[in-house]
Amino acid sequence: MKRIYQITLLTLIGALAGLSTAKAQIYEISLDEKIQHSSLIVEGRVVAQESYKAPDGEVYTANKVAVSALLKGKLKENFITVTTWGGETEDEIITWSHMLTLLPGEVGIFFLERNKVPETGNLDFPSPAYEVYSSSQGFLKFARNDIGALVAYEPFHTYTNLKDEVYDCVAGRTGQVRTIVDDSESVLRRSGIRYFFKTLSISGTTVNFEILVNSLYDNRLLHKAGAAVNYNPDFFGSNIATNGSLSLQSNGISSNTVYSLTKSNLSSSKAKIELSTTGSTTSLSTLTTSEQTLAKASLTIQNPFADPGVSFDIAEMYALSKYWESGASYGFDTVIVETDFNFGHFAPVIDSIRPLSLRAGTDKGDTLYIYGKNFGSTQGDSKVFFADASVGYNQNNRVRPLPKDYIWSDNLIKVTVPTAGYHADTLTITYYAGSGPIWVKVGSSTVPSSENITVRLAAINRHRNDNGGSIPRRKIVRLGGSYSEEAGYNLYYTQEFKDLAGAVGAFERALCTWVDSSHVNFRVKEFSAIPTWLQNNACKIDLTNDLGSGISSTVKAHTPKIYSLTACAVGDSVMLYPLRKFDILFRKSENWYLDEAYDPNFNWNGHPDLQSLALHELGHAQQLLHVNQQNDVMYWEVFGPKRKLKPGDKEGGVYMNEISTVYGPNDCIDPMASLSNCITTPTSEIPQSASLEYFPNPTFDYLNISLNSGNGSASINLIDQFGRIRHHENSEEGLLIIDMSKFQAGFYLLNVIYQNGTSYSYKIMKI
Ligand SMILES: [Zn+2]
Repeated sequence: MKRIYQITLLTLIGALAGLSTAKAQIYEISLDEKIQHSSLIVEGRVVAQESYKAPDGEVYTANKVAVSALLKGKLKENFITVTTWGGETEDEIITWSHMLTLLPGEVGIFFLERNKVPETGNLDFPSPAYEVYSSSQGFLKFARNDIGALVAYEPFHTYTNLKDEVYDCVAGRTGQVRTIVDDSESVLRRSGIRYFFKTLSISGTTVNFEILVNSLYDNRLLHKAGAAVNYNPDFFGSNIATNGSLSLQSNGISSNTVYSLTKSNLSSSKAKIELSTTGSTTSLSTLTTSEQTLAKASLTIQNPFADPGVSFDIAEMYALSKYWESGASYGFDTVIVETDFNFGHFAPVIDSIRPLSLRAGTDKGDTLYIYGKNFGSTQGDSKVFFADASVGYNQNNRVRPLPKDYIWSDNLIKVTVPTAGYHADTLTITYYAGSGPIWVKVGSSTVPSSENITVRLAAINRHRNDNGGSIPRRKIVRLGGSYSEEAGYNLYYTQEFKDLAGAVGAFERALCTWVDSSHVNFRVKEFSAIPTWLQNNACKIDLTNDLGSGISSTVKAHTPKIYSLTACAVGDSVMLYPLRKFDILFRKSENWYLDEAYDPNFNWNGHPDLQSLALHELGHAQQLLHVNQQNDVMYWEVFGPKRKLKPGDKEGGVYMNEISTVYGPNDCIDPMASLSNCITTPTSEIPQSASLEYFPNPTFDYLNISLNSGNGSASINLIDQFGRIRHHENSEEGLLIIDMSKFQAGFYLLNVIYQNGTSYSYKIMKI
């Protein structure tokens, strides 16, 4: 049975006090000291080992070393024996911590002194034997560092440049030049180059990378370098050296003017990057055992879903790689290619989108957060698409936000839900976002979200190019209060519209539905009652077959809008466009349904409901666009009676009305006053005390008014719930009578303005 001993450093110091090898473990020995104290310095490989128990009771290991080079001293033969402490015999294993142990195959530089311990009797191991000076510090073991370059190390030092740091140093100390004993084993005769294609950044579908190089063995003058790479043209496109996918940039070694850097197509699916010497070889760059930049480059991916198919043609790269020595060009013995390219990462993935319920076209823009990966660290040509709502959900009419509406990163896109965006494939700006999935397009790959968003309402945006630029920016729009004498909008009916019996009633039911919900300040008046200076802003409610150029004959009603010529805030901030006026045009040739009541089983085909269409168009007049919810009034298609506002419609009306009253820092629009209910009641005109008498109230036929003659003559107006003046007269009489029988039932406002400036208003009910 074998016994196992583990001897620690402290035990060692105690046991071997007085021996220099023991002390060597606790302090650093300089290279100088090792050179000085070594009688023999060789470079070699451990080719055989034998442990033995010596007469002194200790276990030692004899290591047979094949010498490849001699640095100091003299050799009798090409093999020497190096004795180390500890080892494994028949019945025990002795290991010494911090003392050198060698393994067969290990290569390095041995700093040796004559053996002081008993030698093995085995004649295969040459005598005299040697011990390593300062134990583990006396063996510089050869190894590869993380960039593949040969290094030599001991516990305190790693030497990356053997020639300068070790060989020349020994020679300088001893005056003895390093001599090759076995050429095949000599590391200094070896040459190698490593290429490392390192990703620097990813921008959209473009990978920017650096080509790094280093020598594997020692400094070399670089004469030529290059890479040959196979790829899949489905992924990168064909002929990448000439199709624009691959671009090169001189940097590092390639910026040395003795070189020229070129790219070429070896075939439609194979490219070559080549660095060749075109100038004087006296100015060649030195390839060291540290990484250096050879060049910078970028590759653009066409289709990240394809297999990139990248492989390096190493045979070709051997032919492309040369070093320069003593006036001649030599190929490298070894060419290594490494890359951190991970093209499989490029397909974008959407993990989630939040929030799922949003508004489109709001002032600052409700923002959708798209979480995922591989979106690219910068946007480049990548895009987000929303479902279009202009004519219902239609994947072919996807809309993409304008350039300024994105904040892009590789794993999170923040994007405004727009109502002024480009068509997915063209630069046409007539589309706006609606409910449905969203899509992220990176390169030529487009992925949909698994979740759908709901766009509850869509507020109109306009677009206008940046100052002096060609990129359109989203601009917000306001309802304004400057366009009627009552801080709202004056509406009037054309005679054509009035002549269609029931049309006014149907329209006014629709208008009341909105006023009750969003308190929008739309008041209907007789055109003649609108002051001349405001008639230009009056909104026409018309029945006509001319709905405007470009309006399809299938459109039953249309609301053209005219915005103020002068936008408010200019510059980089969002620009405000006030709506100056709108018209609502109903197609005359339609067979309109006009009654308030309807039979639920009525066949609506060919009988559009004017009240429903009016409700929809009045939504447009309030600057609302279509949504994709089929039951909402603001869905693009109105079929049959849709006379009630849905939550999204109501929220939209309230939102537009609210922002019309907000004074922002850039807001130059007079606020629109809210109507408190469907009856138009000028707020400041409610009298504190009676100054006249009127009766009866409610009334069916006549309204008798007894004026207070002490106030002088009076101007009397009877105003209906839509703000229209239905009766007007000036009177100095004490008593006057208005015939109410011709008016519709409902509330009216009796407005009396006396000559002395006092005015009074009374609510009259006609039954
Ligand atoms: Zn519409």
